[in-house]
Amino acid sequence: MSDNMNAMIKEPAREIPVRASVDILVVGGGPSGVMAARAAAAKENKSVEKAGGCYSGSRKVMLIESRGYLGGNLTIGLPILGFLNRKGEQIIKGLPQEFIDRMRAVKAASGHVPCKNHMSLTIIDPESAKTVCQEMLEEAGVDILMYVFCVGVVKEGDTVKGVIIESKAGREAILAKTVIDCTGDGDVAFRAGVECRKGDDDGGMQPPTLMYNMRNVDVDRLRDALSNHPDIFDMDVMPPEQFGKRYFITVGLRNQIKAASEAGFHIPVARTILITGLKDDEIWVNMSRVSGVDSTDPVSYTRGELTARKQIYEISAYLEEFVPGFEKARIETVAPFTGIRESRVMVGKYILTAQDILECRRFDDAIAVAGYPVDIHHSKGTDCTMYFCPDSYDIPYRCLVPAKTEGLLVAGRCSSMNHEAMASTRVMSTCMAMGEAAGRAARIASDEGVLPSGVDVDKVRRELRETGAYLK
Ligand SMILES: Cc1cc2nc3c(=O)[nH]c(=O)nc-3n(C[C@H](O)[C@H](O)[C@H](O)COP(=O)(O)OP(=O)(O)OC[C@H]3O[C@@H](n4cnc5c(N)ncnc54)[C@H](O)[C@@H]3O)c2cc1C
Repeated sequence: MSDNMNAMIKEPAREIPVRASVDILVVGGGPSGVMAARAAAAKENKSVEKAGGCYSGSRKVMLIESRGYLGGNLTIGLPILGFLNRKGEQIIKGLPQEFIDRMRAVKAASGHVPCKNHMSLTIIDPESAKTVCQEMLEEAGVDILMYVFCVGVVKEGDTVKGVIIESKAGREAILAKTVIDCTGDGDVAFRAGVECRKGDDDGGMQPPTLMYNMRNVDVDRLRDALSNHPDIFDMDVMPPEQFGKRYFITVGLRNQIKAASEAGFHIPVARTILITGLKDDEIWVNMSRVSGVDSTDPVSYTRGELTARKQIYEISAYLEEFVPGFEKARIETVAPFTGIRESRVMVGKYILTAQDILECRRFDDAIAVAGYPVDIHHSKGTDCTMYFCPDSYDIPYRCLVPAKTEGLLVAGRCSSMNHEAMASTRVMSTCMAMGEAAGRAARIASDEGVLPSGVDVDKVRRELRETGAYLK
């Protein structure tokens, strides 16, 4: 392969079929994309929404997804963090809360459990997340197309007019009045020529992790060790009483990792991150880590995937030997893909910074409120740094609008944040809130015949409030 690395060939220009022509096209069916599509398809009329009707009417909303299920990182065994702020107030409501209510109705989610380190954790069942995302879109009349990969854009001047997809059916176009990029990696923005950035000043990005769960864990034994023997089983930030709760996340046990390393184990992280599951004997393990992976380069991502898969067995052996409760545990489910914490972010009309977050800044064009800490897993080495927001901060609409390109909104992990700020906004509650705002803005723009950059943000804010979202 390396022999041909610099070789180029000329691909002949060709005509391709237009598969669909829609009002709003959402690319990527993760937490931000599902909320964006649902919001885009919803009518302003609250009573229709409340009645649970199918609301998209004559407006055509489509969501495309490269995988064969919806949910993105909602499906890899992660809790949703950050519905609450540091004061315990709920700062994310609206459609993200509707998602949780639906999950709870089928016993597939916990409530929002306050946490000193993560503000709050909401445990979800990954399989049910796929189903609930699907139901939310089907009810709203969103046209879902899976197994298609967005590989390019259709552009006229500076305005995006649609995307190019590849699938088993070949290369096709989907035309749209507004495209919402919810790919996590900013694939649409990048292909549209929007300036995109990656990582810190040296290009260092947060490392990825392959999530997996273990069953047959004696969680009571683990809970007892953490609650009653903090001198032995050390934790970062979190007080021992936090582990008396049914649901918790551990971030610590550094001493155990040190002891394991001295005994010859190779553990890629400095801290033991374990998450209780919905089942009594279940723990999700967030501990594999491969530095230097770039998910937009398949060679690099492949190295990440292959390395992380090897790591999980040594991590499990460590847990069995050094962490109380894991003596008889076994691996049950490995996530379908290695999760990406950071890759491209686009440069929008405003770039959110850590200072905005730590100073709890308010913006006139706020479309979401967030409060999760700046949580940076170091691009090199094994550790992590956290800076806490004392209350909550606003995310301006301008963070979803590319600086120079029209016809496009970008929501979720790849919206306009710097390296530190995205370490806070990347949590799924916040990505969902940004997705909802993008969907509502795209719909208002489409109904009023304006570009999303020219939408009346007060109107978007009003609708967000009226439909249950939280704004200050
Ligand atoms: C290991 C790890 C641990 C984390 N821990 C937590 C946690 O505990 N709690 C929390 O709340 N958050 C956590 N996060 C962060 C969070 O999961 C992500 O930042 C968040 O899911 C981003 O949402 P998104 O909608 O922007 O993107 P994603 O969830 O990545 O969804 C993007 C979707 O787009 C699809 N897609 C991508 N490219 C294309 C394309 N070109 N064409 C078509 N479809 C495409 C993908 O298949 C996917 O379904 C963690 C992340 C990782 C990786």
